[in-house]
Amino acid sequence: MIKGLFINGKEVESANTYAVIQSHTEEEIAQVADATEEEMQEAIDRAHEAFRKMKALTSNKRAEILYKAADLLEEEKEEFARVIALEACKPITAARSEVDRSVQTLRFSGEEAKHIAGEYIPLDAAKGGEGRDAYTIHEPIGVIGAITPFNFPLNLVVHKVGPALASGNTIIVKPAEQTPLSSLKLAGLFTKAGLPDGAFNVVPGEGPKLGKVMLEDSRIQKISFTGSPQVGKLIKSQAGLKRVTLELGSNSALYVDNSASDSLQKIAGKAVTGAFIYNGQVCISTQRIYVHEGMFEAFKQAFVEKTNELAFGDPLDDETMVTSLINKKSQERILSWIDEAVENGATLLTGGERKANGILPTVLTGIQSSDKVSCREIFGPVVILQPVQNHEEALQLMNESDFGLNAGVFTNNLQQALKIAHSLDVGQVLVNDVPTTRFDHMPYGGVKDSGYGHEGIKYAIKEMTRLKMISLNYCCF
Ligand code: NAD
Repeated sequence: MIKGLFINGKEVESANTYAVIQSHTEEEIAQVADATEEEMQEAIDRAHEAFRKMKALTSNKRAEILYKAADLLEEEKEEFARVIALEACKPITAARSEVDRSVQTLRFSGEEAKHIAGEYIPLDAAKGGEGRDAYTIHEPIGVIGAITPFNFPLNLVVHKVGPALASGNTIIVKPAEQTPLSSLKLAGLFTKAGLPDGAFNVVPGEGPKLGKVMLEDSRIQKISFTGSPQVGKLIKSQAGLKRVTLELGSNSALYVDNSASDSLQKIAGKAVTGAFIYNGQVCISTQRIYVHEGMFEAFKQAFVEKTNELAFGDPLDDETMVTSLINKKSQERILSWIDEAVENGATLLTGGERKANGILPTVLTGIQSSDKVSCREIFGPVVILQPVQNHEEALQLMNESDFGLNAGVFTNNLQQALKIAHSLDVGQVLVNDVPTTRFDHMPYGGVKDSGYGHEGIKYAIKEMTRLKMISLNYCCF
């Protein structure tokens, strides 16, 4: 299969292509356009031209297109899930759930398109302001450059495309090199859904090269980036006056208090899912678990037992829960971090072994907080369990991080839950849920090295529109 670029409402051939590989079998699944700077420039030209048409669409029409795209995606759920499973090497059950979420994200976008409302400003509150009514409107800003990661090649693209189109902007997606196929397929659906040509373009290829073109072109008004903190910081430093939203990584923490010990088995089950879903290659993967010492041993036992039940296999097999990582480089990095922790005195409770191009689900305890498995984003199937004396110690350890995206706490003590929620230095706190929890309409953004700005349709729209005030003088000229 050869896939081109998607520009101006259709797929176009590119002079160069590269191989997209399924990392479990190491088979080539497609040859995909390896876009040149000129091809990115062409996409910007077309997106810039299409902006006039997008801005002129009514919110009703924009919503209709988004709803239609959602319906088409739902109809093609299985084909999309297969593409995600192959290109991202994601277990097919998780890939199906990503498609379901993407359908929902598109529908949320359609709903929000109709509710982009301003406010009334009483100008007569100022001396000399009498006789005037004023109100605000939220205008689209123009062309948005979206740069996306490999781990959710559909839903994280929809998280940028949905709000951009809902608010009347146009968009160019530069998907991750490993996973360009889902976004190319999605763009085709939007043409069928009646989106004006040029409003949604996909330009696959090298991040640094194509990102530079996006950053240097003044017609791109905003860069919406999801990916690693290193690249995010680089983009922000080069963005000049462009708007920037950065959704970056984390080493998410969970505290389990002994007031919740009656639900120990259930919590351990949720925490295992939170740690190992999609091999831990999730920005809010549960990486650090702090457990009250009163229930630590029982929790540890339940957690390890449930971890050992996870089936490792081919991503297309319905039984598979964990599979190969996105590439061998990732496998080597993670294994070296596990080795470092063990050399520093950690105990390996299970896992730590390579299998195919992945690693068996790994549980460590006895960690130094300076070990990379604790203080860096592991982005793999590795979790650490640590006993703590009380919630104050948990809070201190949870906040001892360069990141701050999601955090979770299981407790039956309301006062403690609220105290922890208010004291955690993160963007989102989940009480009685694991940190690996996201609903697609909730505000979602990080602090510290986890990011800058928010997604979650309504909140992304805010960052993709500009406020304009209009004053009406009905009194005198
Ligand atoms: P990555 O940073 O390596 O790549 C992300 C994108 O940036 C890719 O499209 C890549 O081509 C592009 N890129 C690379 N260098 C660039 C440059 N110099 N200029 C412009 N673009 C460039 O990330 P990844 O490995 O694909 O994804 C994993 C990371 O993404 C993890 O850190 C994870 O936590 C993070 N992530 C965050 C969220 C969130 O919502 N906060 C969600 C998913 C993933």
